[in-house]
Amino acid sequence: MGCCEKQTKKEAAGSIVKAHMQVIADKILRKSFECKEYRDRIKTCESCAHHTWLSRKERLNWIICNLGVIIVRPNRIAEDTAKLPVKLEPMDHGLLCCQYCRCVCDVKARGKKLECCLKKWRK
Ligand code: SF4
Repeated sequence: MGCCEKQTKKEAAGSIVKAHMQVIADKILRKSFECKEYRDRIKTCESCAHHTWLSRKERLNWIICNLGVIIVRPNRIAEDTAKLPVKLEPMDHGLLCCQYCRCVCDVKARGKKLECCLKKWRK
């Protein structure tokens, strides 16, 4: 299941927590998943028309400005959350994000059970 498919708020929150826990577990256990699959996923995101680069400060500002929407958003993230600023040029220490689902691609690409919201890469 992609992160943007219809889910209840509880399911969405659960899957976000689960994905982050998976990332932490992978880092702790030093699994090699991210080597090839992660790089392929990130490459796809970088060449995708929906990518954008944000500084950590911009990402944090976006979260703060949209906190109300993020907390009360209904099931689908893409249609109900404010758009991210569009910056297509890679940024040193920037966060590669998805304009469509508003995720941080680096986090999402590390989740073995996650897939692109537009099915450009799959689990
Ligand atoms: S998650 Fe999918 S739609 Fe979003 S930037 Fe990556 S490839 Fe594009």
